[in-house]
Amino acid sequence: MAYSYEAPVSQSLFDRASVVTPGGVNSPVRAFRAVGGTPRFMVSGTGPYLTDADGREYVDLVCSWGPMILGHSHPEVIAAVQEAVSRGTSFGTPGEGEVALAEEIVARVTPVEQVRLVSSGTEATMSAIRLARGFTGRAKVVKFAGCYHGHVDALLAAAGSGLATFGLPDTPGVTGATAGDTVVLPYNDLDAVRAAFAAHPGEIACVITEASPGNMGVVPPADGFNAGLKELCAADGALYISDEVMTGFRTSKAGWYGVDGVRPDLMTFGKVMGGGFPAAAFGGRADVMAHLAPAGPVYQAGTLSGNPVATAAGLAQLRLLDDAAYAKIDAVSAELRTLVGDALTKEGVAHTVSSASNMFSVFFTDRPVRNYEDAKQQEAFRFTAFFHAMLEQGVYLPPSAFESWFVSTAHDERAIERVAAALPAAARAASEATA
Ligand code: PLP
Repeated sequence: MAYSYEAPVSQSLFDRASVVTPGGVNSPVRAFRAVGGTPRFMVSGTGPYLTDADGREYVDLVCSWGPMILGHSHPEVIAAVQEAVSRGTSFGTPGEGEVALAEEIVARVTPVEQVRLVSSGTEATMSAIRLARGFTGRAKVVKFAGCYHGHVDALLAAAGSGLATFGLPDTPGVTGATAGDTVVLPYNDLDAVRAAFAAHPGEIACVITEASPGNMGVVPPADGFNAGLKELCAADGALYISDEVMTGFRTSKAGWYGVDGVRPDLMTFGKVMGGGFPAAAFGGRADVMAHLAPAGPVYQAGTLSGNPVATAAGLAQLRLLDDAAYAKIDAVSAELRTLVGDALTKEGVAHTVSSASNMFSVFFTDRPVRNYEDAKQQEAFRFTAFFHAMLEQGVYLPPSAFESWFVSTAHDERAIERVAAALPAAARAASEATA
């Protein structure tokens, strides 16, 4: 596909990057391989906007894949970071900032009685399943196709996100022994979970699920699905782990737990709670968390865990996320969903705007999408055309049909109008696209 616009500075940076970094990027989906063209190298962000190295401004509907829920360069977050940096950047000792952040998480999310801070969502899920295995003395982990829990060896089987984007079923480098303890089931299928427990009684350490998946596009849990998981886990003595790295502190003050109220044994967090810095966490039942070193025997550690600058950013961001902030984000999301749906309908493009609270994505199919298999049936080539038409008009979407779109409190009427103005041409491009 040829693109009618150019990004020469980004292209030259990408050429340089490709010499010294595999594929030119530090996280695969950033390379634009699913949609083609030149990945934009961003130099700054303010409110709902990003500016690239060629000086072009975009309305940002990715928000750093979730963290920037207050928009870019929020003055109070920046001030908190500057204040923290002025006192030093890492001490390798306990500090008050990490206590305050842990207290904020515990106060917001009832099932979290104790929490351990880490530096990435991947670390959070990896540590949570190690803890579940240590606590239960069992080996097997159940996960769902299309759910992404970071690049943890045991959880990469049939993962969403970049693996969905690139159509990778699995990845070399994960041994059979590691993958062999992972049971992958179709999402939203409680019968499959029942059958797995029947096939492996007393062997399953945990079921891990995205609280509401956003890594195969947005595919919310069917009514009763999470509650059913919790019940089946409890009946067998397995732990129910809700991965809220994406939904945590985004879909409500208490994340997806605040939406469906199903009480997990363990939960994982990242993205929003780091305020744009590498901070993440896992937590849950105190009796389970008590198994973690140094309180208990399950080892877990991190040189930069609870970093003072990251915790200052995360805490400042969480404290600004009050009811009014979530009402604003929900309203922006609803307005954009309507605008996108109307534009595609007007051009006769088969589509489904799928949402879970304020997270949403567009599937280029009008058939219901309840799991990863359904998601893969969409006409992703239409997304490619749609994506580039939006990019050309200054709207930055996730460069894949299998990712959630994210909005922030900073998306004001001006930003929404810019998206609205770009949609007719993008919908037309989607309608005219050929496979
Ligand atoms: N879990 C979920 C649900 C995610 O969406 C992600 C990242 O997108 C992760 C875990 C991994 O987080 P990180 O990229 O910080 O390692």
